[in-house]
Amino acid sequence: MSQSISVGRFAPSPTGPLHFGSLIAALSSFIHAKYHKGKWLVRIEDIDPPREVPGSSDRILRQLEQHGLIWDDQVLYQSSRLDSYNQILQSLRDHKRVYYCQCNRQRLVSLGGVYDGNCRNLALGPQDCALRLAVTKALSSAEPETVSIGFTDNIMGNFSQQLTHGIGDFVLRRRDGLIAYQLAVVIDDQYQGITQVVRGADLLDSTPKQILLQQCLGYQTPEYTHIPLAVNSEGQKLSKQTFAKTLTEGHERENLWIALKWLQQDPPQELRQATVEEIINWGIEHWDLTSIPTSMQAVPAFSTNI
Ligand code: GLU
Repeated sequence: MSQSISVGRFAPSPTGPLHFGSLIAALSSFIHAKYHKGKWLVRIEDIDPPREVPGSSDRILRQLEQHGLIWDDQVLYQSSRLDSYNQILQSLRDHKRVYYCQCNRQRLVSLGGVYDGNCRNLALGPQDCALRLAVTKALSSAEPETVSIGFTDNIMGNFSQQLTHGIGDFVLRRRDGLIAYQLAVVIDDQYQGITQVVRGADLLDSTPKQILLQQCLGYQTPEYTHIPLAVNSEGQKLSKQTFAKTLTEGHERENLWIALKWLQQDPPQELRQATVEEIINWGIEHWDLTSIPTSMQAVPAFSTNI
């Protein structure tokens, strides 16, 4: 009998070039897939044009190549998948699993981020409305509102959220007509046959939503590994918003070594002089998830270029 192959992925949004935080996610997902003798795919999540920075998809791909992170198969661009997303949305509408909602962002903020179902029974139309998943109708069996959706993360351990008070009805298509991240990510993880998701812990909170959607659509649930976030010396997540520096070209070997060090994989000093390929291979051979800490750490001060 043929053994099913592991498939991992890196799914950047083209909102700017890679920085140290995104390199950690890319490198961890690559090494984890290769450690399992699997494939590693890259998916560009380019379905939010207002946030997109022109040229960054190509820049990210070039940075991945320079760091020796070579993907299998073709890069998947989510902008080419809109028909599939809309078809699936239509079938969710046919099965009355979604409803139109006119609430604005301020109202959601005032609710603490978990939607209270205000528009669920208003029978609103599409005009200027978002489409939300009715979480209590997402599962075919009638689930009590108190049911929890949980999973065991390879690093973070057990994590669950209660259906209505923790997850709440969430947006699948935005008021501006754009497909929401939660829907696209679930459809494409299934479409690409992803068996292991390795990504930053900022998305831990999204995982119960994604598992619920997978169950709603009859999809497989991949295995999840959330890597703690790299933070700056002020304790802020490294992101474009906190002005994380772009990885400097020409420092790829150093970047990889520091990333392995940050992941507490204990790379030897001599490895700093090795080639990109040798560093990556060392990382695969010595990959040890149990050494990765569960909490945030500042990016090591010994680096000058990060
Ligand atoms: N596109 C998302 C981001 O750049 C990541 C999606 C994912 O890994 O699930 O933050």
